[in-house]
Amino acid sequence: MPTQEDLLATAQCLGRENFLPRAAAYDRAGRFPTENYADLRAAGFLGLVIPERYGGLGVDYASYMEISAELGRWCGATALTFNMHCATMLWSSQMADDLEMTPAQRAAHEQRRIGIYRKVIEDGAIFAQPFSEPNSAAAAGKAPFGTTARKVDGGWLVNGRKHFASLAGSADYYGVLCTEAKETGEADVRDTIYLAVDGGAKGFEISGDWDVLGMRATSSNNLELRDVFVADDHQLMPRGKYYQAALHWPHMFMSLCPTYMGIAQAAFDFTCQYLRGEIEGGPPAGSARHSPAKQMAVAEMRIKLEQARAMFLRAISEAGAKPAKEARLRAYVAQYTVMEFANDICRLALRTCGGRAIFRTMRLEQLYRDSRCGALMLPWTPEICMERLGRESLFEAGES
Ligand SMILES: Cc1cc2nc3c(=O)[nH]c(=O)nc-3n(C[C@H](O)[C@H](O)[C@H](O)COP(=O)(O)OP(=O)(O)OC[C@H]3O[C@@H](n4cnc5c(N)ncnc54)[C@H](O)[C@@H]3O)c2cc1C
Repeated sequence: MPTQEDLLATAQCLGRENFLPRAAAYDRAGRFPTENYADLRAAGFLGLVIPERYGGLGVDYASYMEISAELGRWCGATALTFNMHCATMLWSSQMADDLEMTPAQRAAHEQRRIGIYRKVIEDGAIFAQPFSEPNSAAAAGKAPFGTTARKVDGGWLVNGRKHFASLAGSADYYGVLCTEAKETGEADVRDTIYLAVDGGAKGFEISGDWDVLGMRATSSNNLELRDVFVADDHQLMPRGKYYQAALHWPHMFMSLCPTYMGIAQAAFDFTCQYLRGEIEGGPPAGSARHSPAKQMAVAEMRIKLEQARAMFLRAISEAGAKPAKEARLRAYVAQYTVMEFANDICRLALRTCGGRAIFRTMRLEQLYRDSRCGALMLPWTPEICMERLGRESLFEAGES
């Protein structure tokens, strides 16, 4: 089995040699990075976090987060969409193993995930993870999902609408979070069901025009689901376990931030190369880097980058079931820091490199736009992280 160093080296090689040269064209056309996925599939990366006993590469959460950041350094859209696939695999495997289940639930889950992982390892299937809905309170964890799943013979009937579904049209399956529709009683977040919807299913439709400011190659369109049948063996986690995971395995929501850690690194690298005269169309070698003002700006960027990385590494090293309150709050700090600093480092990079760097032929222009999207990602947006950090610093559980 390859070591973590081997896999990081593969991610770097794929990124530098293949993803980077393609990134501008995908961005310009707003086209999904299909060729990058062919490379990821060929490298065995679709099974990156699937445990070895199912044929995957068995990478754990912390190692995955570092590999994801490396992918994000070369192509943000690839790293962000690939995270939807990897998070689906992580939630159903390593994270599910840490959740309390009855022996019957555990056995049923085991049977189902064997089938799910076979689709990935043997058929090369890609999974999307659309949970966001037009009523964003659900994705923020503050209300039940409006998309419903009603139990029928042999499976579920799913109805509802998702938006911002990255990989729309390019995934084979969509890991949809829904609320179990019951005959009586109010919808409850505890009744969240997590189902893999087949992209070719009857009643499943993709709509919308993903023509956006940043992350243009993520194909994050809308999904409409009308009486879509999902077989029982496509249930990605047992009933109620998503809710339990969200409470007890909070770092599950941090996996969007490595993409932006990578973007921050890329903006820093670009600025140094640009000021050293190594970027075509930039200043000639030797001139710009002598400016004390530019040196100060690069120093500020490096300080922010190191601060973000330190928080990121500390937080991912503390991930696991039922972390201490301090560790959970640090994860919010890390998420906030990475998402906000990534955009700030790109802002500083543009300002420091100057006017020639705003041309679309320059990579920095795309990094700047992509970095802006980090703070929009629910459920841990900077506002939600701030809200929790403030409240939980002043109140203990149970205090009103
Ligand atoms: C490039 C990209 C790819 C995406 N891919 C996916 C995907 O694959 N799957 C998926 O499920 N979603 C995805 N999303 C969606 C994302 O997670 C959000 O759901 C979406 O951006 C929210 O839309 P909104 O800004 O209109 O929400 P709004 O709720 O209107 O958010 C606006 C602002 O309000 C704040 N806010 C919202 N709710 C609360 C609250 N309860 N308390 C305090 N502040 C709050 C937020 O912090 C945010 O700053 C993606 C988004 C982007 C930009």
